[in-house]
Amino acid sequence: MGENMVQDGSLALFDIDGTLVRGARCHYQAFVESVKKFYGFEEDISGINYAGKTDPQILREALELGGFKEEEIKKNFRNCLKFMVQYYLKNVHKENVRALGGTEELLKTLQHEETLLGLVTGNLKPIAYAKLGRVGLDDYFPFGGFGSDYAERSLLVKKALSLARDHYGFEGDRIFVIGDTPRDVEAAQEYDLITIAVATGSYSESDLIRCGADYVLKDFIDKEKVLDIINP
Ligand SMILES: [Mg+2]
Repeated sequence: MGENMVQDGSLALFDIDGTLVRGARCHYQAFVESVKKFYGFEEDISGINYAGKTDPQILREALELGGFKEEEIKKNFRNCLKFMVQYYLKNVHKENVRALGGTEELLKTLQHEETLLGLVTGNLKPIAYAKLGRVGLDDYFPFGGFGSDYAERSLLVKKALSLARDHYGFEGDRIFVIGDTPRDVEAAQEYDLITIAVATGSYSESDLIRCGADYVLKDFIDKEKVLDIINP
């Protein structure tokens, strides 16, 4: 699927952590090291429910919890995120990430069915692709909305949508946002998109039903179940 091709099939926008992959110790370590370097602070994000939040959002909350004032936060914020990427790329060979069951088969089939695939993830863009590269899933996603674009998740959805329309000629209205947290669902609901929530992250199926997801799945192991929703 090249650029400038008019697409009227489906568009599927995937989250990464808890949705396509599990385990990201190196990402966590990159976070800890960069906060230590720029804020001299042994941060502890155990007090934050960070599932579904963007990297800049988590960084800001950790610093606020650590008692930092707005101007101190702002001063090194960009450099801190930049260092997080450098650290991650340098250490990605140690990343313990693995693909969740069924993801590769699902993506392969969706691509074959000419579903346009993109990402909506709070990961900074280089971290997102390096992480997916560890499990061979990076090539499925030519574009997306990333934590490096905005701190607010709904703006990442907006970004991915405009790229799909402007760069990939997508003209359809079957647009799916697929993620593992209520935050993924809420961000997509702002644009009236169809939401698929999968209980492979830190939320159960009943949590995800409660937040109003259009479809809730246990996992992607039964590929047909997902395909029946996206390309019936
Ligand atoms: Mg997630």
